[in-house]
Amino acid sequence: MHEFQLIQQLKQKQYHQASLIKGVGDDAAVFRTNDDIITAVDTFVEGIHFSKKTMSYYHVGYRALAANISDMAAMGANPAYYLVSIVIPNDMVESDVHTLYDGMKALADEYKMDLIGGDTVSGEHLTISITMIGMVAKNKARYRHDARVGDIVFTTGTLGDASCGLHLLLEEMDAIDRAYFIQRHRMPTPRVAFAQALQGIKRVSLNDISDGIASELHEIAVASKVAIEIDDINIPLHPSMTQFSQEMQHQWKYFGGEDFELVGTIEEHSIDILKEAAKVTNTKISIIGKVLPYESGHSVYMKQDGRSVPLPKDGYVHLK
Ligand code: ADP
Ligand code: MG
Repeated sequence: MHEFQLIQQLKQKQYHQASLIKGVGDDAAVFRTNDDIITAVDTFVEGIHFSKKTMSYYHVGYRALAANISDMAAMGANPAYYLVSIVIPNDMVESDVHTLYDGMKALADEYKMDLIGGDTVSGEHLTISITMIGMVAKNKARYRHDARVGDIVFTTGTLGDASCGLHLLLEEMDAIDRAYFIQRHRMPTPRVAFAQALQGIKRVSLNDISDGIASELHEIAVASKVAIEIDDINIPLHPSMTQFSQEMQHQWKYFGGEDFELVGTIEEHSIDILKEAAKVTNTKISIIGKVLPYESGHSVYMKQDGRSVPLPKDGYVHLK
């Protein structure tokens, strides 16, 4: 594999972003803007974060970029640029690298994002590290620390689908809506448009669901120094989830993760804007709970059959 040629081929012929001054080809990229700049990086290692057994190179690229874009959505930002650092193992041929980049480009084009740089090295395990750059109007970024007592808690989409899809792939299992669940695992949809449509709301605490809603709720509660109580019955599930055991549903919806949906809190009177945002962006939303004062010990509670029990950050909650 010839590195210089490879980079020439991966380089975009045209760029979308008006703020770009210099993309791939110099020692570094340059852009200019009046907005607040939001930046994040995520690394995916073969055998740890993904497996070639359950994903093609195309999906590896697509999902890695989706995970990063989801971080932008969770900040209320508009994703604009990405840089890709890749460790290429010996068993990967040039066309595999192109396929992986094609997966990223498919999603990048949807958001008019530009690839403006990266690094290429060889090594033992396929590793992709994506640096993401987004923009948001001055002082309009959304934070985890903005939940207040009395807020209502909402989430987008349905939860647990991606974990279910991974399970079906690993177990080579057939199921009703198998293709749907697998798609949710391989090609998740970051909720950028929805988060942008919330701009009219003065205060929103926001987080994306990468590690399971239990973990994300803990992050909001701890950062905001509040407690959160959710209602089990209001956690949104895909209708075909009912074919799986209660234990599996429970595990996937609370601790499964990688759905890349959004979870957040708003004041009750902001609910009309929330509903309008859901409507104009064709996003399912559910009101799942409320924000309470932090009293002692636990940050997140789950109400089921009239009883409220602490919901751990991860792992299985044993209901007596
Ligand atoms: P340098 O030695 O100055 O870092 P490189 O040869 O690593 O130069 O990179 C040359 C150009 O190609 C830079 O613009 C860099 O950002 C870009 N680039 C290198 N590797 C990748 C990659 N895997 N994906 C995208 N752009 C890359
Ligand atoms: Mg370099």
